[in-house]
Amino acid sequence: MPTLLWFRQDLRLHDQPALLAAVEAGEVVPVYVLDDEAPGEWRIGGAQRWWLHHSLKALDKALRDKGSRLILRRGASGDVLSALCDEVGAERIHALRHYEPWWRKIEDALGERLCLHDGNHLKPIEDVTTGSGKPFKIFSSFWKALSAMAPPDEPQDAPRSIKAPAKWPKSDELAEWKLLPTKPDWSAGFIEWSPGEDGARKALDAFVEAVDDYDTARNLPSVEGTSRLSPHLHHGEISVRAAWYALHGRSAGVQSFRRELAWRDFTSGVILAMPDYADANGRPKFDKLKWRRSKHDLTAWQKGQTGYPIVDAGMRQLWATGWMHNRVRMIAASFLIKHLLIDWREGERWYWDTLVDADYGNNAVNWQWVAGTGIDSNMFSRIMAPLSQSEKFDAGDYIRRWVPELKDVPDAGIHDPEEAGCRPDAYPAKIIGHREARERALAAARDAR
Ligand code: FAD
Repeated sequence: MPTLLWFRQDLRLHDQPALLAAVEAGEVVPVYVLDDEAPGEWRIGGAQRWWLHHSLKALDKALRDKGSRLILRRGASGDVLSALCDEVGAERIHALRHYEPWWRKIEDALGERLCLHDGNHLKPIEDVTTGSGKPFKIFSSFWKALSAMAPPDEPQDAPRSIKAPAKWPKSDELAEWKLLPTKPDWSAGFIEWSPGEDGARKALDAFVEAVDDYDTARNLPSVEGTSRLSPHLHHGEISVRAAWYALHGRSAGVQSFRRELAWRDFTSGVILAMPDYADANGRPKFDKLKWRRSKHDLTAWQKGQTGYPIVDAGMRQLWATGWMHNRVRMIAASFLIKHLLIDWREGERWYWDTLVDADYGNNAVNWQWVAGTGIDSNMFSRIMAPLSQSEKFDAGDYIRRWVPELKDVPDAGIHDPEEAGCRPDAYPAKIIGHREARERALAAARDAR
């Protein structure tokens, strides 16, 4: 009697405890269900669908190398899995645990048939709590508690082979799912990525060489100073434990990188405690804040046409490659929320659709952190000054790369060409002045009080 192995955001064979348990039990039917119903408006976004297509293809190949294959089905996961169990005569489904609210509902509905395993985080999320057993609201306390615990379990190898069932059930064709964009095809710039487990491993190996400089380089958008593992980690093509253990030594870079990895665990704890965190202010007093509704300004932000070079460079990098540097994600998000006074949820949704690493917990927690509406965040009144941020983090080359209209602007004017009197005609004037925007945002916050 075969067992189902349900893949979700864990598209790998290494360090995959659910796979190991299924292999141990005998014949395995690996399945991925494309479920656009359960997540509702949080259905997988456009950029991630591109990633998913390539990742599923890679996973199927890896499974075939082990004597197995990937069955693709589409629909409401609970129904699809129950039907597939009946079809192949399976009594058990093995899967890794995930914390997005829609997965938890489906997991509950599947009941005892479903056997859940930890393996997508450094530690089981429920194990890292305050002294009184409550989830942490502040990252620094979470990190302190996690660091005081035993290190994460060491990653496990992939199984040598996977036993196939006597008869394979039918599978959808991947191409039928139309995950890749057609008209217009905006994915030309995505070529820099290699979705799948091999691509993830290569990205990690490359980063191992660079980690000693991480502490300083990670904040500089013009430098490739971070791991770029986020889409691989989100899709589970590499386990976070593998990333943790790949970096030996105790350089400051290794410690800082591990701390960043822990953010992932922290955000899963937040959405476990507050499942609607992507939609509701963590601090309800912000429910009264009067956001502006301006299609014009929102579109200018989305298209990288705000007249603030660092913001525009980031938004164009995002559109072209499905990824944006973390420092610039913060600056661009802050600009939308504070300078344009547009609801953080509008920006969160845009990132959701355009990021290849769009992740329910990571995205929501970071947006609320920047907005100042979250449980662990800055004060709303702390308003980032995009032009001085750009200067401080030396973003000149980054701007020239992503905003070609500014490629000939000299260093002295690159962060603020308008002020320096060297703004080319092709580049827009500032959508709003910094001081004016700041006063407007502070007034809105005062009114909300
Ligand atoms: P590295 O610096 O190499 O970090 C390694 C890993 O640690 C990342 O891959 C990621 O898994 C984790 N990590 C690092 N920083 C954070 C963080 N602040 N929060 C949570 N995890 C972190 N990250 C996402 O994975 N998905 C999102 O949807 C997402 N949305 C964001 C929205 C905003 C407004 C902001 C400010 C940040 C967001 N981030 C998100 C966090 C961060 O920007 C990315 O994880 C990081 O830029 C990915 O690049 P990297 O893999 O090179 O990071």
